[in-house]
Amino acid sequence: MPVLPRKLPNAGTTIFSRMSQLALEAGAINLGQGFPDFDPDPALVEAVHRAMREGHNQYPAMAGLPLLRERLATKLHLQHGRAYDPALELTISAGGTQAIYTALQCLLEAGDEALLLEPAFDSYAPAVYAAHAHPVGVPLDEVYRPDWQRVATAITPRTRVILVNSPHNPSGRVFDDADLDALHQLAERHDLAVISDEVYEHMVFDGRPHCSVARHEGLAARSFIVGSFGKTFHVTGWKVGYVAAPAPLTAAFRALHQYTVFTVNPAVQKGLADHLQDAAHWQGLAPFYQAKRDRFRAGLAGTRLRLLSCEGSYFQTVDYHALSNLPETEFADWLTREVGVAAIPLSVFYSQPQERGHVRFCFAKRDATLDEALRRLQGALA
Ligand code: GLN
Repeated sequence: MPVLPRKLPNAGTTIFSRMSQLALEAGAINLGQGFPDFDPDPALVEAVHRAMREGHNQYPAMAGLPLLRERLATKLHLQHGRAYDPALELTISAGGTQAIYTALQCLLEAGDEALLLEPAFDSYAPAVYAAHAHPVGVPLDEVYRPDWQRVATAITPRTRVILVNSPHNPSGRVFDDADLDALHQLAERHDLAVISDEVYEHMVFDGRPHCSVARHEGLAARSFIVGSFGKTFHVTGWKVGYVAAPAPLTAAFRALHQYTVFTVNPAVQKGLADHLQDAAHWQGLAPFYQAKRDRFRAGLAGTRLRLLSCEGSYFQTVDYHALSNLPETEFADWLTREVGVAAIPLSVFYSQPQERGHVRFCFAKRDATLDEALRRLQGALA
């Protein structure tokens, strides 16, 4: 065997694969890994079929189908009032995770530091390590809001990037305008690039706005914004996302993208472009998921789990201290095996050991699935 480099310390199997496998083995309802258990709009599936029949089967433009980039530019303008140039500032990616990975590779050199707000989605740190750089975890506060003072103290002369995520996975918190201002001040003062993971952009509840980095002139000028068609159109397995960034950042991104992913499935891109023509396809998403959140929360109120607030995303975090002192991974395993409902422990999203008695459920499920999960949880945890 050749000697393998040890670029990724502690990289085992992702928690999402592990909990989905355990759910399968245990016959549990899988509220762990974040994906819908319902089908996408048949019109979208038909649009992709049509595109294949019409010959969208060979390599499309490297940066993405021009029509999809144009429709995405129109959508972003409608959402945030910012005009991204589809030719120079928008790139179609093979999902959000790849977009974040590539953005990090083109921003970081060996020995650089990237700030992550923890709990942080589990693909971020390995992508930083792959660049021979160092992830620096800064904890969110007690209620999972950013503590910008604390972020400031973690900045060093080697810090190049700050990676933020709103709506936040796993906590469900969302940024407000004050967060964007604070982030902007830090990024300006220390000349940091920003990667803003906004894959849950349409799942923001109770009338709150989605405070995208795109809404902030100064921030947008130094940011990669990452979005996901998979999340927005209930097709997570299709792995199609996008990156919006000013032209020089986009050029750097594409320099690497062309030699890794190169292009993304053209029929899927054409189908998405057709689907984006009607803004109603995404404008109704917040109330759709808010109703699921409310149904799920109302059911959990009949258990001794304590509900944390869920302002956005499709995740509900709960505190189980009233029921158990088990560490989070053991509690999630127990819940999956014995109660028949899989969840994700938050402890896996930290660089330092952290046990708060919190697990995350995904409520992007059919009502019948949520009701059966609630029946099991109420039966075991009342
Ligand atoms: N983003 C999804 C989640 O947080 C799943 C991602 C994955 O499975 N890699 O559950």
